[in-house]
Amino acid sequence: MTSKQRVATLAAWSIAIATGVFGLKVAAWWITGSVALYSDALESIVNVIASAAALYAIRLSHKPADHNHPFGHHKAEYFSAVLEGVLIVLAALLIIAKVWEAWGAPAALEQPWTGLAINAAASLLNLVWATVLIRAGRAEKSPALVADGRHIMTDVMTSAGVIVGLVGAVATGWLLLDPLLALVVAANILWQGTRVIGQSVGGLMDMAVDADEVMKIRDVISVNSKGAMEVHDLKTRIAGRATFIEFHLVVDAGMSVGAAHAICDRIEDALKAEIPGVRVNIHVEPDDEAKLPPGTQAVPFA
Ligand code: ZN
Ligand code: ZN
Repeated sequence: MTSKQRVATLAAWSIAIATGVFGLKVAAWWITGSVALYSDALESIVNVIASAAALYAIRLSHKPADHNHPFGHHKAEYFSAVLEGVLIVLAALLIIAKVWEAWGAPAALEQPWTGLAINAAASLLNLVWATVLIRAGRAEKSPALVADGRHIMTDVMTSAGVIVGLVGAVATGWLLLDPLLALVVAANILWQGTRVIGQSVGGLMDMAVDADEVMKIRDVISVNSKGAMEVHDLKTRIAGRATFIEFHLVVDAGMSVGAAHAICDRIEDALKAEIPGVRVNIHVEPDDEAKLPPGTQAVPFA
């Protein structure tokens, strides 16, 4: 199975599992009449929508470059991740609205233990699936899968808070304990949502690779640019699974185009071997464009 097929299969499974979890949570609410379990179930609908959006985005992001999008479609995954973050925030607001309602008219639950057991089973399924998605998403460099996994993880926390609150409410008879805990959980979800949005916005804003990766790139270029005089203006940006690298390569003004191109190809091949999915663009310049004094060291960076 290719990376593309693995990611698409995971996303499709995500929708199926989210639908099943939603069904279980609706059943838990139906049995108990609990406002907290109702809001927990509502939050799961967001999952189904978000997983569908992720699947669509993954399909789109794997489309090869075309006439209208010559650099590829990698950023489609960030749109899905941003949408997911927005939906997480929306779910938090929904819970807060439910808390407000429950605060005004607290009620005792019917068949609380059956309802809680069903909700706990749904959450356990979610926990296992979220772990699978986050690991696989990182391995496949898919921000949409990671965001999907993170979101499901926030669902597990929501449910854990709801279950603890309801056990406490049933045990103590203090009905307001349930909306109080739900409020804490909503705050946590809100924070998670802003994090998912923040990371995806970084990608949409052409964020550079991290400092360690820059050092690695500089090393690979230095080692493979024998024959050139200097490298400067190195720029990097990340777009989903793709990394874009561009820089200026200063060579002797008398060097032939063929010789300069051979150096470029050597550097490109070395970078491609080191970083999967890298796109390299090198601008060749004569030595009067150099930024460092001549003869300092072999292929220095300016
Ligand atoms: Zn230059
Ligand atoms: Zn070429």
